[in-house]
Amino acid sequence: MSFASLSLHSDLLAVLESLGYQTPTPIQLKAIPEVLAGHDVLAGAQTGTGKTAAFALPLIHRDLTRLNQNSEKAIRVLVLTPTRELAQQVYKSFLKYSQDSELNIVVAYGGASINPQIEALNKGCDVLVATPGRLLELVIKELIDLSHIETLVLDEADRMLDMGFITDINRILKRLPDTHQTLFFSATFNDDVFALSKTILNAPKLIEV
Ligand code: AMP
Repeated sequence: MSFASLSLHSDLLAVLESLGYQTPTPIQLKAIPEVLAGHDVLAGAQTGTGKTAAFALPLIHRDLTRLNQNSEKAIRVLVLTPTRELAQQVYKSFLKYSQDSELNIVVAYGGASINPQIEALNKGCDVLVATPGRLLELVIKELIDLSHIETLVLDEADRMLDMGFITDINRILKRLPDTHQTLFFSATFNDDVFALSKTILNAPKLIEV
């Protein structure tokens, strides 16, 4: 199976070729069609499996094929990560895969000055990658509006719960529109992870690799 057989946009196929990606990894093969079809996804995936591209590629594809461009300048994709390191990594992946596109990607995490992050957001943001605490700070200060989010990605959900982010996550979820797609990635599953997935996912497609 090739990336072309997943019906990804030709600009994206060109980027993947320039990066030397020849074939999709198993998680990419399974997740990309489900994300493109608009389904919620519950995926068990470790780091190193190509999970970032499994959600980033179809979300970028959707943007490249969108007819009405982002005239509202609203944030449409929110990726939550447990740590600033992962936020930076996911941010860089989105930048890499969306090179040559008009997509605005912003990253926001705690432990760093908030002002440059606010400035970046004010320039326009389609995809926001953030840690829960800093995101909530931005929401409470009414510096961002999450009411146009189309897709929420929870990356390493198990680690977010281990780090005690459940209250922050629940407060963030309340700000999202009633209808949105949720992509839930976790390396491990225990009762707490399943409980969270059950409350936030709607008829999810289960993906294991
Ligand atoms: P991740 O699991 O998302 O942290 O990705 C692990 C590494 O695999 C990253 O360095 C990616 O750039 C790389 N990668 C992801 N998908 C592919 C692919 N289909 N072919 C080659 N490398 C890939």
